[in-house]
Amino acid sequence: MERVALLGHRPETLVAALAERGVVCSLREARQVLSRVISDGNPDPTPRVSPRKALVGALHAHAEWGRPEVLERVPDGEGKSVRYLFRLDDGALVEAVRIGLLKEGCFTVCLSSQVGCAMKCDFCATGRLGLTRNLSAAEIIGTFLTVRDETPGRVTGAVFMGQGEPFHNYEAVIQAAQVLRDPAGGRIAQEAITISTVGRVREIRRFAAERQPFKLIVSLTSMIPARRERLVPVAGAAPLPELVDALREVAAVGKGRLTLAWVVIRGENTGDDEIEALRVGLAGLPYQLNLIDVNDNRADGHHRVSEVELSDFIERLQVLKVPIVRRYSVGRDENSACGMLAATRAGATPVR
Ligand code: SF4
Repeated sequence: MERVALLGHRPETLVAALAERGVVCSLREARQVLSRVISDGNPDPTPRVSPRKALVGALHAHAEWGRPEVLERVPDGEGKSVRYLFRLDDGALVEAVRIGLLKEGCFTVCLSSQVGCAMKCDFCATGRLGLTRNLSAAEIIGTFLTVRDETPGRVTGAVFMGQGEPFHNYEAVIQAAQVLRDPAGGRIAQEAITISTVGRVREIRRFAAERQPFKLIVSLTSMIPARRERLVPVAGAAPLPELVDALREVAAVGKGRLTLAWVVIRGENTGDDEIEALRVGLAGLPYQLNLIDVNDNRADGHHRVSEVELSDFIERLQVLKVPIVRRYSVGRDENSACGMLAATRAGATPVR
């Protein structure tokens, strides 16, 4: 039987996983073990459960709590982000990014959920890697803890926006999010844990049905079916009307408005046709629209709009009467920004 990866567990699931291996561990002991190894970031989870020598021995025999190896830490030139490159046990490379928040001394960690990505979004370097494999919840938490423990301040949030489509690895991502918010885990407020998706309808519906407490961001990027299918090929498997229905299900069970993301691409998705499609297609849906600059590092790839064009787009979007929020990506020059994570070594040529 495989060893139990402590970092991927909440106390309740740890008790069950150990029981499957014939190890008796009370809920209180599981909380102590996980608090030590996850909340406190201690490399050895066992001393506090002493003098229960049987449990200490069982943990050493049946559990493991290692973290992925850090290969590189690449800070951006402005001191706003640090991109971490990790090597997982099988040699796969993956990233996490520490990002400074507006509130002084507070940070969030952008986490990867997969090695590469199968979604092939036309503007994204990760999509060009293809999918190698899913990360386990323990691997996700391992990257988080390494970044958190080196942070010169407080990590108050986590976002699943690194490599991978989080809803293509739904179980592990939800499990990791639950570990992040657990009092014996990451101790991050559930409202500060954000999961993003390019629009996998089945999992959006599941997220709503399960009433998951985490924040969801759905990347739309186009409301014109043919364009969206070209920019976000996963859309072909989930037509826009179905996606919009799923969004209405999330809105029906959630609190407040939905957050939709729009990767702004010159010559593609800033026309009046998109605004009209948003107006008609999302009528009655409570949402805010986050505008994100495209970050395409191919010479012949997609380009950003100018500040003037962006201001004009924002002005025309006002007809929707929903909040329009401009989001800034950090770390563009270091391949740390949205859409640029491709396990690139510092100074190496990124995937094009
Ligand atoms: S934008 Fe997200 S879902 Fe699309 S290819 Fe990149 S990592 Fe995958």
